Formats: sequence, structure tokens, C-alpha cells
Amino acid sequence: GDLDAETRGMIERRMRLLGPAYRLFYEQPLRVERGSGPFLYDQNGVEYLDAYNNVASVGHANPRVAAAIAGQAARLATHTRYVQEPILRYAESILPSFGGRLAEDGHIMFTCTGSEANDLALRIAQHRTGRDGIIITSEAYHGNSQLTAGCSPSLGRRAPLGPWVRQVPTPDSYRLPRETMVPWFVEQVARQIDDLERHGNGIAAFICDSIFSSDGIYDDPVGLLAPVADLVRSRGGVFIADEVQAGFGRTGTAFWGYRRHGVDPDMVTMGKPMGNGFPVAAVAVRPDIIAGFGCDMRYFNTFGGNAVAIAAAQATLDVLRDDALSENAERVGNHIRAGFARLRHRFPVIGDIRGAGLYVGVEMVTDPASRQPDGALAARIVNGLRDRHILISATGFHANTLKIRPPLVFTTENADRLLDQTEALLDALAG
Ligand code: PMP
Repeated sequence: GDLDAETRGMIERRMRLLGPAYRLFYEQPLRVERGSGPFLYDQNGVEYLDAYNNVASVGHANPRVAAAIAGQAARLATHTRYVQEPILRYAESILPSFGGRLAEDGHIMFTCTGSEANDLALRIAQHRTGRDGIIITSEAYHGNSQLTAGCSPSLGRRAPLGPWVRQVPTPDSYRLPRETMVPWFVEQVARQIDDLERHGNGIAAFICDSIFSSDGIYDDPVGLLAPVADLVRSRGGVFIADEVQAGFGRTGTAFWGYRRHGVDPDMVTMGKPMGNGFPVAAVAVRPDIIAGFGCDMRYFNTFGGNAVAIAAAQATLDVLRDDALSENAERVGNHIRAGFARLRHRFPVIGDIRGAGLYVGVEMVTDPASRQPDGALAARIVNGLRDRHILISATGFHANTLKIRPPLVFTTENADRLLDQTEALLDALAG
């Protein structure tokens, strides 16, 4: 339906007040006033099924998280330069989940955003290695600071890469031969390391999102990243797992995306769902990687790891565990992928179905023979579903891959509503 006059007026004020860098989703932007579980509600109380927002991973307005935030804010909200028990308790409860060497004797440092976490991780890597080179995937997004924006080609063609940033192509499992994918990808990384050694001082870090969110959502093959980590280390660099999207159970029972790949990273960065909407993010790092960093330069982050952020993070982690939400992500995500696989028999413009856990990618093509990306169709689906009160988005270089990434409390019933409405919409678009 068309927007009412009041909402149109708000959109004009928004443009005037917030300026041109702010974007709204959808041809008919959505006004929201309230959330609950997997639902958002507009100003008239109309319910929207949220199949997009990964931040509210334990559900919008989760009561346990809200109570923890309110309780801590009413008691004390200060920074990390005093001895406080809750931050230690949180570190002790999360560090074992990283597995491998991070679980043995890793450290965790707190920031407010994923950008800050990646910025810090990259600076630690550069300090540790004495080098500048960073390797990323071709459509990566790693943040909005000077350093991380320089590692984020998905920001747009005009966003300049950093001088020592090199890209490897997206491991496009839909178009590249599967049998040669792993050696091909390792070779791409090796070439960029060679280039960094030839023109500069070599590789400091390879950083990657193991579900390749902005590249278009690729979950397979899972053998892809372990040999990359080995190669990067053998050439003196460190492997940073950017878990800002894939982490905290999003991609299923492995809990961390890199564990699904069998990688033991040197550093892990996380954020987004960590506080279910309260700003809290972190870097987990091995002691040998950060040794010296704390002496050569100090690191302080006023709000990073503040008492309220830690309360939000602890409550979110407790709910994830108590309600077995990574298991739910795996089960309901598989249900959604199976549903789209059924739809593909009726609608061959569904070219490929990918993802892990509750991160689902559905690639739309003009026809399955040519595999030509169809970004216009993906946009019609995203907007058509919005009009049917279901929220998703699209990703990848051609923005032709439907991005379905709901709160982890999403149920099979919610999934069936998404699938039924998608089927009805595809029928309507075809007719
Ligand atoms: N890394 C990845 C993979 C992300 O998706 C994002 C956010 N989209 C970031 C880093 C940056 O996080 P933030 O927006 O919290 O700075």
C-alpha cells in the first residue's frame, strides 16, 4: 500500500536532518515502532515477519536482555579501568566456545562495533608481523573506519581500497567447478601474497567472513579456509575470522562460522548480535599474537566492555545457550532451504540455494542455463514480500541473491509463512 502523508513527511525530514548518506530499505519504506521475537510492528500495530535482522538474534525486545540492561544501568555503568566481576565472568563463559588455541589461553578485548573490532584486529596483526599487507575477498565488508573501509569493496566502486589491500575472487560455488575450488582459491591467495611481497613488505593478515555475506552467501566447500589459514601462516601472516555476521550460532551448531570450516584462527572478531542490539563487539586473540602490543601502545575504548554492554552480552549468550538457538538455526535454516528447493521445481529462476543455519541465500537468475544474475527480479521479490509483510533483503555483486537472515528464534511456522508468501508472490509475478 502507499505510504500515509505523515510517514512521507517523516521521510522528507529524515533527508533534510540526516543528510544523503542515510538509506532506507524498500520502495515503500517501512516505519517501525515496536518489536517482539521475530516480529516488527508499524505505527498502526501491523505485524511484519522479520526474516532479515541478525542483530536481534534472541528476538526483538528480548525480555531477559532488556531486564539485564535496565538492571545494570540502574546499578553502575562504567568502563574497564576498575576491577569488576561481570566482565571476567563473560570472558570465562565465552572463551571456551572459540575452540582450539583461543579456548586454551586466548584473550578477549571489547569494543563497541564490528568496525572497531576489525580495526583493532588488523592493527594487532600489522604490529605483530611488522607488515602492512591485508588480503580480503572481492566483495567484502569489514567496517567503516579508515582502515576497515579500505578493506570493504562492497561499499561501492568509488570507495578506494587501502594501499596494501589485495582482493581474492569470491569462491562462487554456483559457477566455479567444485572439484578444483579449494586448490583454485588457495592459489588466488598465494598470488596476492606474492604480489604483496613483490611490491611491499608482505602479508600481515588474511581476513574473511566464513559465510561470505556481502560476496553473496557461500557455505561450501567447508574445506576452503583451513588450507588458506595454513598458507597465510607459512608466509608470516595471521588469519582473522570476521565473525560479525557468521558468529553466535547464526550458521548453526558449530556456533562460530570458522569452526564449521575446521579453522583455528589467530584472531576472531565479533559484534552485531553480541548484545542483541546493545552496542558491544570484541576481538578474541591468541597471547603470542598480541604480545608486545599492550606495551608498545595502549588500547583504551571508553564504552567498549562497559558494564551495561557486558550485561547485555551475558544475557544474550545465556539465552542463546538456554534456548539452544544454534540448534534451532540449523533445523529451521535447513527447513527453509528445503522449501526453496521445492519451489525451484516450479520456478527455475531460482538458480541456487545456499547458506548455513539461519543464513539463507537464494540466487535469482534469468534462466538456469545461462545463470545470468537477475538483480531486478530479486528487487521485485524483496519489495513484493515487504508488501506481504515479510522482511528480507538481497546481497552479492549483482544484488541478485535473496538474503534471508532472521532472528534465531525463527520457528518452522515462521519459515512456512515466508515460504508460502514467496510462492504466492512468484506466482503473481509469473502471472
Ligand atoms: N564485518 C562484517 C562481516 C559485517 O557484516 C559488518 C557490519 N555489516 C562489520 C564487520 C562492521 O560492523 P559494525 O557495523 O558494527 O561496525
